[in-house]
Amino acid sequence: MPPEPDRSVAIVGGGPAGLMAAEAASSAGARVDVYDAMPSVGRKFLLAGKGGLNLTHAEPLADFLNRYGARSNRLAPLLAGFGPDALRAWARGLGVETFVGSSGRVFPTGMKAAPLLRTWLHRLRNAGVRFHLRHRWCGWDDDGALGFTTPLGPRAVRADATVLALGGGSWARLGSSGAWVPLLAARGVRVAKLRPANCGFDVGWSEHFRTRHAGHPVKPVVLSHSGAVGGETSQLGEFLVTATGVEGSLIYALSARLRDEIEASGVAQLRMDLAPGRDLARLASELSRGRGSSSMANHLRRRAGIDGVKAGLLRELLPAADFTDPDRLAAAIKALPLRLIAPRPLDEAISSAGGVAFEALDRNLMIQALPGVFCSGEMLDWEAPTGGYLLTACFASGRAAGAGAVAWLKTIEPAAAQGN
Ligand SMILES: Cc1cc2nc3c(=O)[nH]c(=O)nc-3n(C[C@H](O)[C@H](O)[C@H](O)COP(=O)(O)OP(=O)(O)OC[C@H]3O[C@@H](n4cnc5c(N)ncnc54)[C@H](O)[C@@H]3O)c2cc1C
Repeated sequence: MPPEPDRSVAIVGGGPAGLMAAEAASSAGARVDVYDAMPSVGRKFLLAGKGGLNLTHAEPLADFLNRYGARSNRLAPLLAGFGPDALRAWARGLGVETFVGSSGRVFPTGMKAAPLLRTWLHRLRNAGVRFHLRHRWCGWDDDGALGFTTPLGPRAVRADATVLALGGGSWARLGSSGAWVPLLAARGVRVAKLRPANCGFDVGWSEHFRTRHAGHPVKPVVLSHSGAVGGETSQLGEFLVTATGVEGSLIYALSARLRDEIEASGVAQLRMDLAPGRDLARLASELSRGRGSSSMANHLRRRAGIDGVKAGLLRELLPAADFTDPDRLAAAIKALPLRLIAPRPLDEAISSAGGVAFEALDRNLMIQALPGVFCSGEMLDWEAPTGGYLLTACFASGRAAGAGAVAWLKTIEPAAAQGN
């Protein structure tokens, strides 16, 4: 058996970022221990696989980078080290082929996360990575050791370097609760408030609308939004009516700007084109044709192709008088305003915005105020839409942090290593 490496790296958090950090540190020659609060690792990753694991995206790298908005310059070096192509090659190395869907999104052929995670954990264990489950990190003790609560009581762990990969603040029941925020803030680390990203919004439907239409998809529809930041944007797709408001792919795509607008002004306004592809003048002329004894519902269905939840939205949001004016009715069908009053709570969101500020880190993702402590994954202050951008950035930053931890260990004397 080869001798145990003499330098140890503790990875706290066993999601995609932490496991990738473990792989990078272990393959660079460190002794690696992964600690996770939950009874098993990768729970959110497995959940992501339930909806058809969207690993990454096949669009050109420049477009890919733009998805990270204001943080694209921070993500660029990380993705240069381990970007979409490298991620697909890595999955292939685990025996998981990927394919590009019609939208450019990249999925494993089986669409699931479980086979990939299983093989990956097997490979990590074979490489000597040790897993310590039901270990909840709760900060550092006075001697600088990592403190954990475990079923057997408190445990203090010394490591030469640490990679924190604790996730954001959504879906707390899968492990990432955001409880790390005050622990780092107390150490003087700048952390931007965690906020919902890729989230639904509250509208405040009437009881009548809610009971009839909650759970129904609105499709096809074009959603438009004009924001003080980002200008005008329009997108064709679908969204879902919920008991309190709206959610789904089209809403998530706009959610960062909608959330920011609500924070700034208390409300955000969307416009819905309920009849995409139909010309406004033509629609008005169709609707102006006499409806005789036919009901308004039949008239809308026959003349404008509007029924079900779309007709419900018109009834909910349009003054009754506008139904008798074909021009106003047609204009509403093409641009029906929808007022959003609040994002859904962080715990329900697909991901989190906010987190450890890049300004607090060096280029290897080490916290400058805490030498030897690195951060990775969703706990960093970036956000991106769905489409594989979230996982790609988690993998890329995990890899950079794991490799960075080992590189840092090589630059210091053994006695100076963290916690010694
Ligand atoms: C429903 C859903 C579907 C998604 N689908 C996709 C998708 O298809 N494509 C995509 O790119 N992204 C998707 N995502 C987002 C993606 O899953 C996350 O961005 C990603 O898992 C974040 O990885 P992470 O390693 O940073 O954190 P996490 O995966 O959240 O892992 C953090 C780990 O840290 C552990 N931990 C937290 N606090 C402590 C503590 N104090 N002590 C010890 N351990 C702790 C947790 O138990 C957890 O195991 C989806 C998310 C959701 C909710």
